[in-house]
Amino acid sequence: MHPRRHRIGVVGLGYVGLCTAVTFASRGFKTVGIDVERQKVASIKAGNVPIHEPKMDQLLRRGLHSGSLEVTDEFSQLSKADTVYITVGTPSKSDGSIDLTYVENAAGQIGENLRTRRGYCVIVVKSTVIPGTTSSRVKPLIEQASGRKVGRELGLCANPEFLREGTAIYDSFHPDKLVIGADDKNALKWMTHFYKRFYGSRTPPIIATTPETAEMIKYASNGFLATKISFINTVANIAQNIPGVDVEVIAQAIGLDRRIGPLFLKAGPGYGGSCFHKDLQGLIEFSRRLGYDPILIRTTEEVNEHQAEEVLKLVQILLGSLEAKRITLLGLSFKKDTDDVREAVSIRVAKHLRKRGARVVAYDPIAMPNARKALDDTVEFASDPRTALKGSDCCVVLTEWDEFRRLTARDYSRLMRVPNLVDARRLYRPADFRAIRFLAIGLGSNNGLLRTTQNFSS
Ligand code: NAD
Repeated sequence: MHPRRHRIGVVGLGYVGLCTAVTFASRGFKTVGIDVERQKVASIKAGNVPIHEPKMDQLLRRGLHSGSLEVTDEFSQLSKADTVYITVGTPSKSDGSIDLTYVENAAGQIGENLRTRRGYCVIVVKSTVIPGTTSSRVKPLIEQASGRKVGRELGLCANPEFLREGTAIYDSFHPDKLVIGADDKNALKWMTHFYKRFYGSRTPPIIATTPETAEMIKYASNGFLATKISFINTVANIAQNIPGVDVEVIAQAIGLDRRIGPLFLKAGPGYGGSCFHKDLQGLIEFSRRLGYDPILIRTTEEVNEHQAEEVLKLVQILLGSLEAKRITLLGLSFKKDTDDVREAVSIRVAKHLRKRGARVVAYDPIAMPNARKALDDTVEFASDPRTALKGSDCCVVLTEWDEFRRLTARDYSRLMRVPNLVDARRLYRPADFRAIRFLAIGLGSNNGLLRTTQNFSS
């Protein structure tokens, strides 16, 4: 399998698809990326990455320039592909179940364009889909549209993606594992060979399993990570009420236990992003249809939904009534290094604050254009953090951007009308903020701040 002779098709150029395409192209594999959105295709073709993702633009331009990457809206380009990835979106329907329309359309379009193809080709479902989708939904559509049999002339497998937005390129080059769910040995052999060729001596462990198990691994993974976050947020909400207790120290201590591990134990305003909520809702609906009520997953979601209220509680402790108060939100993206505001807690917090009569001014280094679309124009946007803080009654830090770390207690007290700060991301060392009114998620106010604060607001 020589890179120059192995052709890859990637259908759907969102986060996952574009990242997959530029990564393969960067190692010389002839890659064609296809999307139905013409404008997006034109923009990517011109070398512009439609999302903010570190290192993505360099790889894109390099791929286009070297000719190893081609971007188009013409599915006919797939007729020469040896391996075709499906990376389209799988959004939630209103009942929480997943909408497979894009996956089904993509499967049909891929099938039609493989009709005339000679030789073996493997179709890989990388989108997150509920167990059974690859075998019972994608397979018949591909067979019908292509007039060819999966298992003989075509291969099919589920190969979920685990990248994280913000570190997507790094994650694509350094995955912890590769999960390949295939019913036929040829497809498994093909994909294993391909990945060994791509990753060489750095090939991670490969989990070879059934398509259904592969699909379920992705849901189990996101379900577990989200549960870990809701768990530590629950501990934080309890800790907040006990003078002398700090959730950060608790997380550090329990994280040293190898059975627990240190990651995803950062208390905060709740998880966001395009995947956790969507995937947990998808899992809940899927599980219910099977006759099992997944109480733990439901509760993880409930805790997360409630977490915005915990942030508001801290604001209210500092301010009392929010009516006509000017409140600054620092950070709008669901985490740093991305401009993604899908399911971001900032949107929920801004809406709650507005409902309670507050005036909201927000700043984010890159997510403001997306946030503008998600919020109505009653939220003001500032050009930099200092402008956002001017004349403010309270500031809430909602995203862990590095530039916010550089702000000091002096900056806050100099710029704000009243220096009230809620650190919902635990960016700051509480000891450095003794001079201003400071509350943080999961920090029992042992230094008398809470008492002082209550005196202020009463
Ligand atoms: P996205 O919404 O950013 O992009 C999907 C793209 O698919 C869009 O550009 C859309 O125009 C295109 N598309 C839709 N129908 C198409 C069709 N028939 N043919 C060609 N293109 C089509 O989605 P995403 O965030 O990249 O996620 C893709 C999948 O990967 C989802 O199932 C998601 O759950 C999963 N996933 C996402 C992430 C993440 O961090 N974003 C991580 C792991 C897994």
